[in-house]
Amino acid sequence: MEQIIMPNAINLEDDAVVILWEDAHRSPFPHRYLRLRCPCANCVDEMSGKRTLDPDTVPKDVKAVDQLPAGKYGVQFLWTDAHYTGIYTYRVLRAACPCIICGESRAKANNSNGNSSETGGEIPGGDAS
Ligand SMILES: [Zn+2]
Ligand SMILES: [Zn+2]
Repeated sequence: MEQIIMPNAINLEDDAVVILWEDAHRSPFPHRYLRLRCPCANCVDEMSGKRTLDPDTVPKDVKAVDQLPAGKYGVQFLWTDAHYTGIYTYRVLRAACPCIICGESRAKANNSNGNSSETGGEIPGGDAS
């Protein structure tokens, strides 16, 4: 079973939506970055999973002005372009974390999928799982 990491706090700041996670990780999401990832039926085609939202229709300075918990597993944001229907699950938010640490670990994961040449010297000895 997958452990879902929960946020301790979600702060709507001037330049970013900052999520502080219970494992002390910090995710600074630029407002527009998050708005463009809206998972609602108006922004994503439910059948194909294809994004139908045209980024050109989203204001450059769009911001989240309010937030609303969506059950135990996610959050809805109210955006300055009057959009609010997208439920962002914590799992998706954490997976989309734009910080450098997460960017590097995602790049690593991609590399190990694609090519199998492991030249890095930091392979952990034993994984206790
Ligand atoms: Zn949407
Ligand atoms: Zn991160």
